[in-house]
Amino acid sequence: MAEPRHTVDGPALAPNYAPLPVTVSRAQGVYVWDTDGDAYLDFLAGYSALNFGHLHQALVSAAIGQLKHLTLTSRAVGHELLEPFARRMADVVGPLTSGDRESLVVPMNTGAEAVETAIKAVRKWGYDVKGVPEDQANIVVASGNFHGRTTTLSGLSGNPSARDGFGPFAPGFRTAPFGDAEAVGAAIDEATVAVLMEPVQGEAGVIVPPDDFWPRLRELADENDVVLVADEVQSGLGRTGHILACELWDTKPDLAVLGKALGGGIVPASAVVGRRDVLEVLTPGTHGSTFGGNPLACAIGIAVLDLLEPGQYQARAAQLGEELRDHLRRLTDEGLLTGFRTAGLWAGIDVDPSLVPGRDDPARALAEELLERGVLTQETQGNTIRLSPPLSIARPELDHAIEILELSLRSLRG
Ligand code: PMP
Repeated sequence: MAEPRHTVDGPALAPNYAPLPVTVSRAQGVYVWDTDGDAYLDFLAGYSALNFGHLHQALVSAAIGQLKHLTLTSRAVGHELLEPFARRMADVVGPLTSGDRESLVVPMNTGAEAVETAIKAVRKWGYDVKGVPEDQANIVVASGNFHGRTTTLSGLSGNPSARDGFGPFAPGFRTAPFGDAEAVGAAIDEATVAVLMEPVQGEAGVIVPPDDFWPRLRELADENDVVLVADEVQSGLGRTGHILACELWDTKPDLAVLGKALGGGIVPASAVVGRRDVLEVLTPGTHGSTFGGNPLACAIGIAVLDLLEPGQYQARAAQLGEELRDHLRRLTDEGLLTGFRTAGLWAGIDVDPSLVPGRDDPARALAEELLERGVLTQETQGNTIRLSPPLSIARPELDHAIEILELSLRSLRG
C-alpha cells in the first residue's frame, strides 16, 4: 500500500497569531460563549468590527434577506444595491468629508484594501491633476501608524515586527511624529499628494492627538494642495461618539477610509468615501475587486448606516465613554494603572510592568487574568490593553467589566 505523501505532525495553522486560550463557539450582543458554555463580556469586539454587538437583529435580517436573493455578481455587471449603498454612504458619510453629498464611494472588502485604494487614488490624482512628475509622488504618514498588512502598508508601519523581514518595500512614504503638525508641515513638499493618518491610533494603544492636530492638518492640506486621508477603519462608525472620529475636532478629511463595523461583524466590507475630483481618477480598468460592493455586503452596509444615522449609538458611545473615563481615572489615581487614554467608548490602558515580575508582557498577563474572570480583551504593544466593547453595551455590564478589571489588577499586584 502506498504511503501517504504529505503527512506532518502538529497544527496546520500558520503561527502568525498568538490567540488567548479560549475557543469561542457562539455569541449574542455583548457576550461570547466558549465551547464549555462559559460566557465572556466581549471587550475586544473584533477590534471595533462589532460596534453593534454580535448578531444584531437588523443586520442579521438584512443578511438573511439578501442571502435568499443574490449574493455575488462581481462588478462585471450591476446589481440593485450597489448604487443605493454608494448613495447612502455619500449621503451619510459624504457630508462629514470635504466631498459633501457629491462624494464618490469605492467599495472594497478589508480595511487594508481600502487604504491601498486611497493610496492609489491620491497618487493618480497627484499625477493627473496636481501635475506631480510621474513616479515621484510622496505621502506623509505618522509614526506608530497601523493601516494593514499588505506589503506596502507593512513597509510604512512604524512597528518592526510588522515590517522586518518582509522587504523590499514600496517607496514614496515619509513619516512624521503622530500629533506633531509642524513636523507634518515640514515633511510636505511639492511632490506630496496626501497626508494619511488615523485620527486616533488604535493598534498603537488608542493614542489621541492634541486637539489642534487635525484642524492643523486640514489647514496644511489646503495650503499645500494635498489630499487629507483619514483612516477611520477602527475609529469610525460610532466608536468615538461620532460617525467619523475626525468630527471630534470638527475636521473634514478629503477621503475617509471605513472598514470593520461596515460589515456588521458578518462580512468583510470597507470603502473609501470622499472628494469626487480625487476618486474619479479611478477610471475603468484602473482598480477593482471581485468581492467589493457585493450584494450581501451592500445589504449589510446599508443596514449599518441605517443604525448609525439616527445617532443613538454615537450618543451612547459618548455617554458611556465618559463613564469609562471616570472609572479609569479612579483606577489610575489608585495606582492600579500607569495611564490611559479614551476616545468615546474606546480606551487604551497602560499596565505597570512591575505588576507582573518575571514577565515582559504585563498586558498579556492582565488579558489572561481578565479572561479567567469573564472579560475578553487583548493586549497591544506590550504594556497596553485596548477596551472596545460593542456600543450596545448596557451600563451595568460596563460597570461589571470595570469591577473585574479592578479585581484582576489587584490580583496581579498580589
Ligand atoms: N486601518 C486601521 C486603522 C486598522 O485598525 C486596521 C485593522 N486593525 C486596518 C486598517 C486594516 O484592516 P483589515 O484588518 O480589515 O485589513
